[in-house]
Amino acid sequence: MKRRDFMKTGAAVAAGTLFSACNDSDRQAIDYSKVKEKKEAKLSSVNINKTKKVTLKLATSWPAHFPIMGTGVEEFVEHVHIASAGSIEIKLYPKNTLIPALAVFDAASSGEIDIFHSGPYYWKGKNSAFALFSGMPFGMTAEEINAWMHYGGGYELWRKLYKKQNLYPFLGGNTNIQMGGWFRKEINSLSDLKGLKMRVPGLGGEVFSTLGVNPILLPAGEIYAALERGVIDATEWVGPALDLKMGFYKVAPYYYSGWHEPGSILELTFNHQSWMKLSSEHKMIIEMASSQMNSKMLYNFQAQNAMTMKKLEALGVGFRSFPDDVIRAAKEGMQEVVTVQSGLNSDFKEVYQSAADFLSASKSYCDVSLKKFLNTR
Ligand code: CA
Repeated sequence: MKRRDFMKTGAAVAAGTLFSACNDSDRQAIDYSKVKEKKEAKLSSVNINKTKKVTLKLATSWPAHFPIMGTGVEEFVEHVHIASAGSIEIKLYPKNTLIPALAVFDAASSGEIDIFHSGPYYWKGKNSAFALFSGMPFGMTAEEINAWMHYGGGYELWRKLYKKQNLYPFLGGNTNIQMGGWFRKEINSLSDLKGLKMRVPGLGGEVFSTLGVNPILLPAGEIYAALERGVIDATEWVGPALDLKMGFYKVAPYYYSGWHEPGSILELTFNHQSWMKLSSEHKMIIEMASSQMNSKMLYNFQAQNAMTMKKLEALGVGFRSFPDDVIRAAKEGMQEVVTVQSGLNSDFKEVYQSAADFLSASKSYCDVSLKKFLNTR
């Protein structure tokens, strides 16, 4: 059928305007060698095989092959190797094989390693504002954090503060909404939380402490035994998929929905010089591969958590929501924490204000879109 004949058919009527708006000159591919801003990159003349080979050391805070986070980083390393035709070799050191899990920040800052993969709230002792880049209680979802980082000023603030630490960060994954944790006893009111010992880190832990909870930090390998023996009364971890592997349901059957980590980010962070030394082609490969890792880790968490729900239901896990008085008090507690931290640290104040402004705008939109939709489906 000739195009003229095709255009006469009813089915093509709606498409007609699309065709007519798309003439031959529109169909030409964009020649990037003619785009002024792209000239310096000389993309058309790049031969990646001739690019100087670089070797980078990457240490993580996760054990080798750790589900989702560990395997996601391994895939990133492989993709960078392939996309750079072998001209970027990343030597991957899982937790404690070269650098202790929580020493990776300092190791990259000093140049002992080139890159680390971890989570910003682990470094809140260096600067309380870093915890905000991980997300905050009652704050942004993964989608909102990604939007704030890329288009709401988040990345600029994060890179400004990390530059003082000689670091250059990228988003490197997101756990999605974390669950509120496993409790040995049911929480029916705010008074049931008073005096409980709970493993909960970060800003969430500080908010829980305003509710009368004693927040405790424990290494992953010690949490189950502490919960079983009653040394702690509750623990949060991540979400259904990773929590099931920890076996918490056997000793703490009440599983609460969360508000303390609504979208915790993971980071892929470079030593600043190691990043600056890379060629523009290598930088682009890293940017694209890390962006893919950021997306795919979130999708993997969503998929694994969804596929774990039936298993948890079959095990008789009691899904619960915190009572209204707990939520009200936690929101007030969050404001207390923000007021205190903002008074102590101008960086915290600046980052919180930026995130809160973005969240306020996003809430207006979500209230008429996502929230309505989720309530109707
Ligand atoms: Ca957590």
